Amino acid sequence: MNLILLGAPGAGKGTQAGLLVEKLGIPTISTGNMLREAIHNGTEIGQLAKRYMDDGCLVPDDVVLSIVGERVQKDDCRKGFILDGFPRTVPQAEGLEKLGIGIDHVVSIEISDDEIVARMTGRRVCLKCGATYHVVANPPKAEGICDSCGDELVIRDDDKAETVRHRIEVYHAQTEELKVFYKNKGKLRLVDGKQSIEDANHAILVAIGAAK
Ligand code: ADP
Ligand code: ADP
Ligand code: ZN
Repeated sequence: MNLILLGAPGAGKGTQAGLLVEKLGIPTISTGNMLREAIHNGTEIGQLAKRYMDDGCLVPDDVVLSIVGERVQKDDCRKGFILDGFPRTVPQAEGLEKLGIGIDHVVSIEISDDEIVARMTGRRVCLKCGATYHVVANPPKAEGICDSCGDELVIRDDDKAETVRHRIEVYHAQTEELKVFYKNKGKLRLVDGKQSIEDANHAILVAIGAAK
């Protein structure tokens, strides 16, 4: 099963992807995590991407498309994969089609702009394994330490208030139209992102036909 998780920054894509990996047994491909890893490793792509990410702008389509195109070829993607944060523009979605990659369901996690701001201020992430936490809604077992891999948790550079505001604008201007794109193809499933993490996860499983 090939899935796309769509939604504004902070909607819960990364959190839900982490739960779906366990339940569906397929890997997550998070372009945000892959780009942050590239920045951390100081690669050429990382250096280029950092300029856009620090400003809350999208990294150019050809850059993310080539990263995803390469990643889906890997062996672990044979039974399917979860795309988290990709595609984010119509040209990226068209690029996916040109690569011959079919999609079964596009789950849009719906959340209001006000809720986003509250979530981002409490978000803590693990740069090593990509796990996401929230200081109130989803705290780690030990403060500041990743449950999964034991690395330290940090605040993302682009989670400061003014950058978050710009990322919300970018979502409405460039990403939200993907809902129409996939609705027209009969692939769009809407899920309320304001419910608890567990309830949202159940709603996603129902929406993709993996639970009743
Ligand atoms: P969030 O989960 O909060 O929406 P991501 O981790 O998905 O954030 O993305 C963080 C940043 O990485 C984006 O603001 C953008 O600069 C870059 N990025 C991630 N995925 C893409 C993509 N598919 N296309 C362009 N830029 C991307
Ligand atoms: P995205 O990948 O869409 O940017 P995240 O999964 O990183 O979103 O979630 C953003 C923040 O909100 C994180 O701190 C996460 O722990 C928290 N969060 C995710 N889902 C919920 C939820 N249903 N209720 C409350 N907080 C949530
Ligand atoms: Zn970790």
